[in-house]
Amino acid sequence: MSFVFPPSTTPSVAIEGTQDKFPVHRIYCVGRNYAAHAREMGKDPDREPPFFFTKPADAVVTNNATIPYPSRTNNCHHEIELVVAIGKGGRNISVDKALDHVFGYAVGNDLTRRDLQFEARDKGRPWDTGKGFDNSAPIAAIRPAGKGHFSKGRIWLKVNGETRQEADVADLIWNVPETIAELSTLFELAPGDLIYTGTPAGVNAVKPGDRMEGGIDGLETLITTVAK
Ligand code: MN
Repeated sequence: MSFVFPPSTTPSVAIEGTQDKFPVHRIYCVGRNYAAHAREMGKDPDREPPFFFTKPADAVVTNNATIPYPSRTNNCHHEIELVVAIGKGGRNISVDKALDHVFGYAVGNDLTRRDLQFEARDKGRPWDTGKGFDNSAPIAAIRPAGKGHFSKGRIWLKVNGETRQEADVADLIWNVPETIAELSTLFELAPGDLIYTGTPAGVNAVKPGDRMEGGIDGLETLITTVAK
């Protein structure tokens, strides 16, 4: 057997302290997981089960990259997020055992074509064009979970040096173990899955030439520039 053309290369993410790469299987994202962000999106935060959407694996963008301004939008937003990298798969994972499945953590940016997302949301259509576009998932190096788990810590994002988002990971409505447990009832998780856990308040538009810099205490800072 041979392929009719060469298969695409496996998207991957850097790992702190090694030249080895984390091969990306799927990208899952959690919607509205910080109360103040749910309110700024015009929704009431509560303890309804978390909801999920996805991005293609090849939407990942390495740290310190310059990306083109996305097509078909006039309102591309930054969303700084804690990303959980899954190292051990499973389904119906219990909250108690969920952290055993974590390979590590990274800072990610769930770039969003807000105009297309809102149009889809208002018309009851899928979010793919608003969320799952090319270069929509910048991510910094993964810090292995052996160095510690992330249940709290300052999360922030600056555009051209000006603070836009600032909160604490402890403010997540659904924490990391709860998110993994719930997601694993909907999909069988596999090594290589990434989970973007949701963004705090302060999301806003970027324009060509902008430099986004975002971080979480203890993790590599993520820098992404939008081409002029
Ligand atoms: Mn998000």
